[in-house]
Amino acid sequence: MRKSDQLFATAQEHLIGGGVAGGRYNPLLERPLYLTHGQGSRFWDVDGNEYIDFFTGSGATFLGHNHPAIRAALEHALEIGMIANAETEYHSELARLISDAVPSAEMIRLQNSGTEATMGAIRVARAFTGKPKILKFEGHFHGMHDYLWYNCSTELGDLRADGTVAPMPDTDGMPEALSDLIVVVPFNDVDAFSSAVEAHRDELAAVILEPISYNQGCVPSDPGFLQQVRRICDETGIVLIFDEVLSGYRMCRGGAQEYYGVTPDMCTLAKALGGGVAIAAICGKTEIMNVLNPTGHTVISGTYTGHIPAVLGALACQKEIARPGFYDHINALADRLYGGMTELLQVTGVPGIVQGIGARFGVYFGVTEPVSNYRQAVKSDREMEVQFLLGCVERGLYLHDYAHKTPMHHGFSSQHSREDIDGALNIIEDVFREMR
Ligand code: PLP
Repeated sequence: MRKSDQLFATAQEHLIGGGVAGGRYNPLLERPLYLTHGQGSRFWDVDGNEYIDFFTGSGATFLGHNHPAIRAALEHALEIGMIANAETEYHSELARLISDAVPSAEMIRLQNSGTEATMGAIRVARAFTGKPKILKFEGHFHGMHDYLWYNCSTELGDLRADGTVAPMPDTDGMPEALSDLIVVVPFNDVDAFSSAVEAHRDELAAVILEPISYNQGCVPSDPGFLQQVRRICDETGIVLIFDEVLSGYRMCRGGAQEYYGVTPDMCTLAKALGGGVAIAAICGKTEIMNVLNPTGHTVISGTYTGHIPAVLGALACQKEIARPGFYDHINALADRLYGGMTELLQVTGVPGIVQGIGARFGVYFGVTEPVSNYRQAVKSDREMEVQFLLGCVERGLYLHDYAHKTPMHHGFSSQHSREDIDGALNIIEDVFREMR
């Protein structure tokens, strides 16, 4: 019996699905992946298999595994006594670096996870505007709290005359009453957006969106779309929030807001902010962030908020990504990988399209036109996707299966090399040939 099968059996005695997070169960493996360790661009499972890591902890390990700077930061945290629930000079140094990089980040409050950050951001927006409703886009994921988890991995909701989509909760257990507070709109559709805003303008506190929706693979904003959203939010006094939990730092230091040249009122960051440590941030204009206590009366706090290992890890990560040439490396690998995969699809005759920006990408099979919204993304052929993901994993290239309604994001870290990408392309070529 393989060690992974033994571990799966033992883990299931006390852990539902043999793991501590539902998303770690990999339906293709019929169990979670159990790892021993990671180094650089690779990790090893308990059966001794080595993988090129194209999962990168769902985008968290942006600096790869065991990066010397992150390691030194965590050692430093131990040396200074694993301080908890207290401030240090490092907290404000980190905030300064975030603010230097991210256009909308005038003021910052740290959090532990992306879920906490989006939950806090909409509380701030509601407090600032005194309004209750939030507009989100179909297919966009903003974490697992009850306020925003609608229409990102569900059956399609009915399209309504006012431009909105019927809210469809993504999990059981969400109170039905909360669906009155959410307005769902198809992405990249300016007409639907403006008519939905018109219908709800007196009640809308915020618009939240993934400027690049990696939670459907990689769905970019259409040219000019974010500018229109920005204009309409300005005209109506609605707070515009970019959820950059995944897109932040992914292709340049300023994230998607720098990439598109559109500055939101607020944004949320996590994942690549820390390069593997558990940290997130709510960021925004001073005028808005001033509602937070102790300046204002909106309370967001927590025992582990800005826990010292996370702060020192994120500080190390931020210094790494600010090094000259960091993004030249990331974007050169991106060009090589997405260009290479596109060519391989053509050469092998497998119908599909690769969409990638910076260090993350999605693949849509059976689709040949660019994917720009959820209704197009769900048309991707799931059977071909399963063949692709399994074929890669069997050959030592790990891409996670999230069992989502749409393809999801995969990607690489700064420690991936040109050789890793070429190795991955060889594996992908083999898999595409088998699929054909
Ligand atoms: N927002 C976006 C855009 C995300 O991609 C995610 C997670 O993947 C979240 C929020 C939730 O973050 P976390 O898993 O850290 O709670």
